Amino acid sequence: MDKRIFLSLAQQSGFEQEYIQKALDFNWITSGGPNVDDFETKIQDYFNGEAFITALNSGTSAIHLALILLGVKAGDEVICQTLTFSASANPILYQNATPVFVDSEQETWNICPNSLEIAIKDRIKKGKKPKAIIAVHLYGMPYKVDEIHAIADRYEIPIIEDSAEALGSKYKDKKCGTFGSFGILSFNGNKIITTSSGGALLSNSSDLKEKAIFYATQARDKAVHYQHSEIGYNYRMSNVCAGVGLGQIKILDLNIETRRKNHSFYKDVFCDIEDVELFEVSNENFYSNYWLNTILVKPNSQNNINKETLRLALETENIESRPIWKPMHLQPIFREFPYYGEKVAEELFLNGLCLPSGSSLTNEDKYRIKKVIRSFFNC
Ligand SMILES: *Cc1c(COP(=O)(O)O)cnc(C)c1O
Repeated sequence: MDKRIFLSLAQQSGFEQEYIQKALDFNWITSGGPNVDDFETKIQDYFNGEAFITALNSGTSAIHLALILLGVKAGDEVICQTLTFSASANPILYQNATPVFVDSEQETWNICPNSLEIAIKDRIKKGKKPKAIIAVHLYGMPYKVDEIHAIADRYEIPIIEDSAEALGSKYKDKKCGTFGSFGILSFNGNKIITTSSGGALLSNSSDLKEKAIFYATQARDKAVHYQHSEIGYNYRMSNVCAGVGLGQIKILDLNIETRRKNHSFYKDVFCDIEDVELFEVSNENFYSNYWLNTILVKPNSQNNINKETLRLALETENIESRPIWKPMHLQPIFREFPYYGEKVAEELFLNGLCLPSGSSLTNEDKYRIKKVIRSFFNC
């Protein structure tokens, strides 16, 4: 059997070891520390100083802290894009708040301006204005920033920008993660760069950064002894993990370039296959890192073609592919919560498939992927 081709694997720069060793030499094998400070500075530079960075142990904790800093409490309502990974929505439940799910539009697969406004109006009519909106740049594709933020501004609702999959993506030449009241990044092993596990909160002031660190390090009051007046969390990034991240930052631009080349590869693979639509940016306002390449497979019962038979054909050759995220309002854990939309996300889920897109894909891997796909579609 040929070696397994995974959906999205990390690529090492070779410098990770050096920075991990620094943490060991310094004997700071715990959370926070010099590597964490350096990592924050480097990420801040990457964002041209347009955001304050708090390094955390996951993207999920970053979303949770954003909700806390926006004052989301039990009984509050928070709007969340339904087509996303569960980590976007789970922190709403951590706060005992109520998620309100909103459908996607066809162009970016992200939160739909029309459905969003309908949802906001209806929730206000029912007596509660949503406390925040979690909008996602799914698969690295920026959401319709101008439209979504215009609506949020009109109703004065802050946006948490889930940029976990969109490090390096841009809208009108401005980097994703810098549009919202808060942005979040993930450095999980499958994302653009990894710290083995990690994330970051992007905020607009040093004050908010300080507050984020306060909550992320157990909310200690200013006292010699350990005194606590608020609920704290253990969410700070580890100094060892930040070492991995410092090694990874060296290939951040390269990783994005490689992911975008993978996209060109799939463009070529599918150029003459009419039953497949490759998900792409719709115009030059959008710049995607193409974290994952996704396709819509038009079902054809005569030839037994659909996204699942294609997935199985790839699996037979030890190539991983995966249906796109199952919408949150269809998930057993979220089924009881309100949903606004027109089943766009459901349609996308029905026919959508994610293809191997890691920055470690080799030419040999691509050759194998292309062969399976072309023969599946008889060309
Ligand atoms: C990965 C991911 C997260 C969570 O990040 P972790 O670092 O794994 O906690 C949140 N939202 C989206 C859309 C993601 O893909």
